[in-house]
Amino acid sequence: MMTLSEVLDVARSGRWAVPHFNISNFVQLKGIIAACAELRSPVMIGTSEGEVEFIGFKVARAMVDALKAETGLPLFLNADHFHSFAMCKKAIDEGYDGVHIDMSKKPYKENINETKQVVRYARAAEKDISVEGELGYIVTDSSKIYKKIVAIPQESLTKPGEAISYIEETGVDRFAAAVGSLHGIAANKPILDFYRIERLREIIPKNTTLVLHGGSGLLDNDFKRAIELGINNIHISTTIRAAYIKALKKALKEKKDETTPYKLYDPVVRAVAETVKEHIKLFGSQNKSME
Ligand SMILES: [Zn+2]
Repeated sequence: MMTLSEVLDVARSGRWAVPHFNISNFVQLKGIIAACAELRSPVMIGTSEGEVEFIGFKVARAMVDALKAETGLPLFLNADHFHSFAMCKKAIDEGYDGVHIDMSKKPYKENINETKQVVRYARAAEKDISVEGELGYIVTDSSKIYKKIVAIPQESLTKPGEAISYIEETGVDRFAAAVGSLHGIAANKPILDFYRIERLREIIPKNTTLVLHGGSGLLDNDFKRAIELGINNIHISTTIRAAYIKALKKALKEKKDETTPYKLYDPVVRAVAETVKEHIKLFGSQNKSME
């Protein structure tokens, strides 16, 4: 079976995007994998520091392994927005396939140093670990739905010149850039800086994967255009969470006397799967499982 780096290589040359969805329990994972199995899509399953604190590293790994065996799909586990070398080391030691070291809110030098340390540790591991670094920062939080328009300061966006030195110095495999998207869902009109995406793709090394975070709330055409311009990995979290909660609230309301959890969760799994399928189709990852 292909490694995460190999799947990302194929995505870059084929101009499609590997989807990345976050989970904090088995119900979310079940919905995501049902969609991926139906459409034969590879997928990255992400846990943030908070999410993995709830699930547990070993349980996250075991769930993904079990579903990988059951479906035969290329499923990968990624540490999403981990904020220290120590946490990334823990994820690598626990068998994660990828780590994202996010020091984007720290000063440039500190970001470089901590990221370098993660890359060095990952390269020394027995298996192929894909490392993501981030430069420029996203101003919002994925646990929130913002009712108002959020201001995005120009200095928070990734500067292409700095991106090159950052990638060259750290040696990261995946590069998360701040290009106008937001974590969570805000009232902002989608404001992706397509020129910046295009420019970044032109100048960063060919074998570096350009990652788009904050995919929730973007329009279908935004995804398509971003992929055309060189995004090959897209993170979706809040949209899935929102679909989950909406379906759960509806089920609780409709079946007031139900005491069997899996009966309440059945429509939740289906709602998550539907949302995931829409994204897979937009990202072009359908039938890319490469059996
Ligand atoms: Zn993110």
